[in-house]
Amino acid sequence: MAGGSAIRGSRVGAGPMGEAERGDSAPRLYVSFFCSNGHETRPAFAAEAVVPEVWDCMRCGLPANLDSENPPPPPKITPYKTHLAYVKERRSDEEAEAILAEALAGLRARRAAGEVIY
Ligand SMILES: [Zn+2]
Repeated sequence: MAGGSAIRGSRVGAGPMGEAERGDSAPRLYVSFFCSNGHETRPAFAAEAVVPEVWDCMRCGLPANLDSENPPPPPKITPYKTHLAYVKERRSDEEAEAILAEALAGLRARRAAGEVIY
């Protein structure tokens, strides 16, 4: 009987619909991002992709957002880090001096007590 092959044929016939959905004419979404240097970056997203709020500028690397009137300010991480490193360095120097002074004082105290220090 031809019943089985008819069902199989209808399943094959459903194929073109699926192929049309994933054709190479996938819709693209172009979104403009603006950085604080006035650069415009237009990455292309898949239509179903979630567009991020912040994008790195392709020209200068600064953060860019969708608002050309109010782009994100350039990050101030570097000067802050430098300052923090400076404070930390100074603090550790002071600590090192204090530890050294304490060690010397202890050494002198033990010498004074008659201990032999090598
Ligand atoms: Zn830029």
